[in-house]
Amino acid sequence: MSKVLIIEDEESIADLEKDYLELSDFTVTVCGDGESGLETALKEDFDLVILDLMLPGLDGFEVCRRLRESKDIPVLMVSAKKDDIDKIRGLGLGADDYITKPFSPSELVARVKAHLARYERLVGSGTKPNETIEIRGLKIDKTARRVTIDGVEKNFTTKEFDLLTFLAENPNHVYSKEELFRKIWNMDSVGDIATVTVHIKKIREKIEADTSNPQYIETIWGVGYRFRV
Ligand code: CA
Repeated sequence: MSKVLIIEDEESIADLEKDYLELSDFTVTVCGDGESGLETALKEDFDLVILDLMLPGLDGFEVCRRLRESKDIPVLMVSAKKDDIDKIRGLGLGADDYITKPFSPSELVARVKAHLARYERLVGSGTKPNETIEIRGLKIDKTARRVTIDGVEKNFTTKEFDLLTFLAENPNHVYSKEELFRKIWNMDSVGDIATVTVHIKKIREKIEADTSNPQYIETIWGVGYRFRV
């Protein structure tokens, strides 16, 4: 259930907004002035703030400015004057939307719902699930850089992990030792390509049940290696 804070000094308007929002299953808190509104908004977690501009003491502009210093929640500004809209825009207060009085309560509810939906999409897109590759019993968690085989975690060095991940991301493709050396070690293949052989051997010891009959990384004689899927 979403929590909405209404900062509004006109009791009749606050009551009307509250009633309609509660009918739509919102949990509503009302504050009658800027100071208590700001304090409540900072102290508790709300999903959205409906903020009247003309408030006694601390006005809506100031409340919005101070709120924005520490909170990123949607703010819907309410104004009785059309002129205020230009001021809201001009001040760059970070208000997400505004609505002018008089407005219909159903319009307010629709705006609140639209903002919450948009905000949830934005927040949701910021937290990506871990990127993983799963092939049979092998699981490579690219985000956490962890490898498990049949649920058992194996310790991989950085280069072993990079090499295994590269091969697993490009299955059924045969790579020569030179190519793998260039890709993983970022050097021209004048280096010691035997490094690749050593790393493949170590990876197999960790992920293969039988290293003489590898199920994941195959040796293609005279050519290189291929990841099987
Ligand atoms: Ca007012």
